[in-house]
Amino acid sequence: MTERPAPPPLEYRTPLCSVCGTETRHSVNGRFFCDACGCGWDDSIIDLEGEWENTASEQCTATVRPYEDNTWIPEEDERKHLELRCIRDAGHCKEDELGEPQSLHAHPELITFAKGWA
Ligand SMILES: [Zn+2]
Ligand SMILES: [Zn+2]
Repeated sequence: MTERPAPPPLEYRTPLCSVCGTETRHSVNGRFFCDACGCGWDDSIIDLEGEWENTASEQCTATVRPYEDNTWIPEEDERKHLELRCIRDAGHCKEDELGEPQSLHAHPELITFAKGWA
């Protein structure tokens, strides 16, 4: 009989960013951070709004109508015309040297079915 391997060690997970849905980074000074979104949260009370790291930054102006082309939603449904505005910092989407945006636009409403838009 061969020796059965033990289950690998567990790995602690941090909460997911409420803007983009990726795992946050925990810092020793008691905060969770999302580097991609530039925001952080106090780790002692989970049910608390976060803060933008760069408080001087304006909000990105990109908007999206996520349900506009969805043929399952009828015209008269107000979701069809819902427009969401990216809540990341202005300038986050500048293109890199390959012409790709540095990061996608993001809105908390879109976490569950789409991770942002270009
Ligand atoms: Zn994020
Ligand atoms: Zn944006």
